[in-house]
Amino acid sequence: QHIHAPDDLNRLLQEIYDEAMTITSGKVADYIPALAEVNPDYCALTLATLDGEVFNVGDTQQPFSIQSVSKIFGLMLAMERLGDELWQRVKMEPSGQAFNSIVQLEWEKGIPRNPMINAGAILVSDVLVSRYSASKNAVLSLVRTLCGNESVHADHEVHLSEKAHGHRNAALAHLMKSFGNIESDVDELLDHYFWQCALTMTCENLARSFTFLANDGVCPFSKNSIMSKRDSQRINALLSTSGMYDQSGEFAFTVGVPAKSGVGGGIVAVVPDFGVIAAWSPRLNEYGNSARGMFMVRELANRLGLSVY
Ligand code: GLU
Repeated sequence: QHIHAPDDLNRLLQEIYDEAMTITSGKVADYIPALAEVNPDYCALTLATLDGEVFNVGDTQQPFSIQSVSKIFGLMLAMERLGDELWQRVKMEPSGQAFNSIVQLEWEKGIPRNPMINAGAILVSDVLVSRYSASKNAVLSLVRTLCGNESVHADHEVHLSEKAHGHRNAALAHLMKSFGNIESDVDELLDHYFWQCALTMTCENLARSFTFLANDGVCPFSKNSIMSKRDSQRINALLSTSGMYDQSGEFAFTVGVPAKSGVGGGIVAVVPDFGVIAAWSPRLNEYGNSARGMFMVRELANRLGLSVY
């Protein structure tokens, strides 16, 4: 049982944030202009606890591109629609390869290693496009419900430039289609995938929207049951092994909680039975994870003793 006085938590977050602000290493994602233009000095840290308290430091109300963190939302809807059949089409193994790797997909006959790499999330997008009448609306209404904010949207400019620069993602989709693992029209599912990557949220939105994963599938704010305990455990397991790109092993070793990052510089870390830590800062380390974000999540988890292992 973790019990921490609010004043102490506020002080601790501020201290960690101040230390993080001295980190200037890393590089903002620049594969599309819309991401390259973001102010690299933004920095935000939110802790949302299961008793409904939210602690914010820094730019926590500034919307940013959540990118790969959105893979979790897509996965939730695909799990709901397809049930266990989904796991015949995508595996649950760590990849040990870059998030956008193609070679492994060829070796493994069009079955992606897990839903957190691009191939897996593109497969998930296929499920959404073929099994929901309006897949974008389904994702949007899920996200809005989860964070309790009706203004969450996908950034049009980011969506279009993802599409214009998404040749490798298109290659992944076509390769899976050639192996018979894609049902819908490739252009349509790619449009869904790029749109989903362009979802824009604040650090606080992000923390709030993932609290159900720390609470056996039940949102602690609305008390709504979002998914079964079993499915929320399964998502946490995938995040533990595959959520932090090729730094997932080190993250488990040094931090020890399920987490997902994106190239926009966001990180969301789930602490079962305690709450969610969300961090955002655009400069990325060599693995594609936010440099300041990694520092803040690690420090907060370590200083509060939050590792699940
Ligand atoms: N839009 C990016 C891509 O598909 C997502 C990258 C990420 O956040 O990992 O390449």
